[in-house]
Amino acid sequence: MALLQISEPGATPQPHQRKHAVGIDLGTTNSLVALVRSGTPETLADESGDSLLPSVVHYAADGSNSVGLLAAQRAIDDPLNTLSSVKRLLGRGLADVDSLGAQLPYEFERDDGGMPKIRTRRGTISPIQVSAEILRTLAERAERAIDGMLDGAVITVPAYFDDAQRQATKDAATLAGIKVLRLLNEPTAAAIAYGLDGADESTIAVYDLGGGTFDISVLRLSRGVFQVLATGGDSALGGDDFDRAIADWIRRQIGLGDSLDPKQQRQLLASARAAKEALTDAECAPLDVLGWRGEFSREQLDAEIMPMIDSTLRACKRALRDAGVAVTQVDDVVLVGGSTRTPLVAARVGEFFGRPPRANLDPDLVVAQGAALQAEVLIGNQSGDDLLLLDVIPLSLGIETMGGLIEKIIHRNTTIPVSKAQEFTTFKDGQTAMAIHVLQGERELVDDCRSLARFELRDIPPMVAGAAKIQVTYQVDADGLLSVTARELVSEVESRIEVKPSYGLAETEITQMLKDSYSHARDDMAARALREQQVEADRMIGDLTAALDRDAHMLSNSQAQCLRVAVAELRDLRRACSEHRTLAQQIQAVGKASESFAALRMDSSIKSALAGHTLDEIDQD
Ligand code: ADP
Ligand code: MG
Repeated sequence: MALLQISEPGATPQPHQRKHAVGIDLGTTNSLVALVRSGTPETLADESGDSLLPSVVHYAADGSNSVGLLAAQRAIDDPLNTLSSVKRLLGRGLADVDSLGAQLPYEFERDDGGMPKIRTRRGTISPIQVSAEILRTLAERAERAIDGMLDGAVITVPAYFDDAQRQATKDAATLAGIKVLRLLNEPTAAAIAYGLDGADESTIAVYDLGGGTFDISVLRLSRGVFQVLATGGDSALGGDDFDRAIADWIRRQIGLGDSLDPKQQRQLLASARAAKEALTDAECAPLDVLGWRGEFSREQLDAEIMPMIDSTLRACKRALRDAGVAVTQVDDVVLVGGSTRTPLVAARVGEFFGRPPRANLDPDLVVAQGAALQAEVLIGNQSGDDLLLLDVIPLSLGIETMGGLIEKIIHRNTTIPVSKAQEFTTFKDGQTAMAIHVLQGERELVDDCRSLARFELRDIPPMVAGAAKIQVTYQVDADGLLSVTARELVSEVESRIEVKPSYGLAETEITQMLKDSYSHARDDMAARALREQQVEADRMIGDLTAALDRDAHMLSNSQAQCLRVAVAELRDLRRACSEHRTLAQQIQAVGKASESFAALRMDSSIKSALAGHTLDEIDQD
């Protein structure tokens, strides 16, 4: 007779319901999906055994789509309907298309002000739709492997992705019907895959050079907690750029101008890439393209790509400086991305850090594997106590204050999630509304920073200037998305905004903004000081003019005249002077000259306030 099974007290009678969550590396060039099975992350392959899915979608005339290798094969005969590298466009603005457009052989639709859409025979397609196709293909692959529905996914993004780019990635997942458990920075995922949480304390640099992006992250591991100390990189630099450099080299050999059609362009790039990849193992690669035969050597490759590698190393230097870490303090260097297979890349990175980098896991797979491990924790299949993840924001977030200045609320490289509040007050008597302008950047003046959002706090009860208490709270969630709340503390009026910034800040712009903030630091300080004095001067001119209009009768004619002249001089200086110290001196002088007038006015207002009250009544207040 069969034995009946009885469950333990407290345990559910149902067998344990395991949830299924995967990690997805949504790459510019290749995408992957990985799943944890018996504690080990495995990347999932398609029927033919490939786990790398080329991030390419082909839109056919008959209304069907193909994704991956099949799509990539259509790139040469049907380039305008074969969309690849759209991650470069994800969350970008039309303005970025001009710089990227030369590299991407598509026709862009330029009429809607948002993310650039690509014109195909099947209508205009947004980069979000293309990404959704790729994500759906991977999700289906996973659903076949688990023979069930997917409960969620961790999707990786370059550490440098800004708010808009992260939001666009989430939108693509939603469109694909995938629940996003977390967006995870790619380098962080790689560190997880390497299980670098074994050590007690260590500092790890993750160097990720893929097809389209370069990321450097400096991670700090402390008792099982990963913290991203700093990130840097360039979202427009990768193996594709190596390919273009080689293609240009070939063009020079053949003596071709720039007038290649898209098909020839693709053929040229395909041979360039094949030669580059062959040179990872060989010293010399044959070339046979556009009717030209030749050879390309490792030495020639090295010469072509050296400047680009140097540029990545400069970014490493900056990231270390941001992290406050000396190169000798780095305990581990991890290589990620297909382009780190190129021998010169690994060699130069090793030289720079003074130690051989880790590369024993497949640099193409590590990101998806790490994401799968994190997904397993987040879906609740495994205790997450031992793997807490912290990331940082790449640029400071601030608010516009009087005089076009920015007050930083959350500083760059602050770990997220984070919430910070600051109190502000009104500038004018009876002010009932306040304009909140949310900005991103390192510079001191609003004009030099990027505007993320504007909103208004209304219905503030009228009070004298400076009496209202407006608390502005900036909150950045674990995915790096910002929400801002403004609240008047006396009346409790509140206004809130989810910041979904207009698509459009390119990586190079972030780098430029950072560079500018270093090179302009001194100018900015002076400009800030001047603005502060100008605001002060305006306040003094306004106050004194109003006071003279009302109470000049308290002064003798000559005293009043003197003050009027002082105010007029201050007004002229405010307009003409560009030196904050001079302006400050004049403000002080006018302040002194008007002291006795202020005292007279104070006395008289106290007298009128006291009129009709006994002293006892006043005391009781
Ligand atoms: P992404 O993260 O941008 O999707 P990957 O990490 O998949 O990119 O890397 C793709 C890049 O790696 C391409 O530029 C490809 O040419 C390059 N690559 C792949 N294999 C090799 C190799 N054996 N040698 C050199 N480069 C390679
Ligand atoms: Mg990658």
